[in-house]
Amino acid sequence: MAGSRTRKQTPARNGQTVGRSRGGDAWRPVFFASMMAVVVSIIVLLVVAADSLGQGPASPPGGAPADPAEEPAASPAELGRGSPTPSGAASSTPSPTRGADGTVIVACGDILVPLDKQHRLPADCEPSDLVQLPAEISFGGAQYLRREALDALLELFEAAREDGFILVVNSSYRSYDTQAQTYATWVRLNGQEYADRTSARPGHSEHQLGTTADIGARGLFLENFAGTPEAAWLAANSWKYGFIVSYPEGKEHITGYAYEPWHIRYVGKDVAAEVHRSGLTLREFLLQR
Ligand SMILES: [Zn+2]
Repeated sequence: MAGSRTRKQTPARNGQTVGRSRGGDAWRPVFFASMMAVVVSIIVLLVVAADSLGQGPASPPGGAPADPAEEPAASPAELGRGSPTPSGAASSTPSPTRGADGTVIVACGDILVPLDKQHRLPADCEPSDLVQLPAEISFGGAQYLRREALDALLELFEAAREDGFILVVNSSYRSYDTQAQTYATWVRLNGQEYADRTSARPGHSEHQLGTTADIGARGLFLENFAGTPEAAWLAANSWKYGFIVSYPEGKEHITGYAYEPWHIRYVGKDVAAEVHRSGLTLREFLLQR
């Protein structure tokens, strides 16, 4: 209380001082008022100028509802491996990599991007080095894979052959459009719920990477391949050749897809060995990178 009284007195004294000086210099208020008017005018001018300067660069984004939607497809592709890395940070910086449907658009050309229900490739993403598979391992027409993946697959098939198993490929590279047809076919045949457990929507398929193959043997494909000695061999050995079974048994709650012992994706021998050692599903491993 005492302190506040002391303070209250101070302005009174100051007021007296000001009052005294007014008497002597009557021109000062007018001068200060003029100066203030000039200063205020200058500030207003500067603010207006700064505003219009600021709006120059800012206005294109204003007309930009379309821009963010288009950028994601272009920029990750240009950035190559950098941006798609789905380390939790990517999900907190959504704007440059989100599609209009809310999914994350990953880089085209990076074989280690995660592809699941939340991550997809740009619709126009097509590998530039697709090579046709030899006829003797292609089932049901021409098949294509990226060169590196095919070389590794041939090595894997040779190793299987040495162990007495003759493997073939019944599906490999699928374009966005082909995947759209594939998915639509499954929806038509079995309904959407079933289709979403067993088939990726266009853009979300690992087959669009050109590094993924569906393996069969002795005329047994898809569900009929499950439980065969060939499927067991593939599960135990494919990592040695750079491939991972993307959708292992009992992991649907993690991968989003039912068990697919026939579906293997090439990630390179080093990464495949790491995935194998980690005991993680490929999706978990790639999302943690
Ligand atoms: Zn597949």
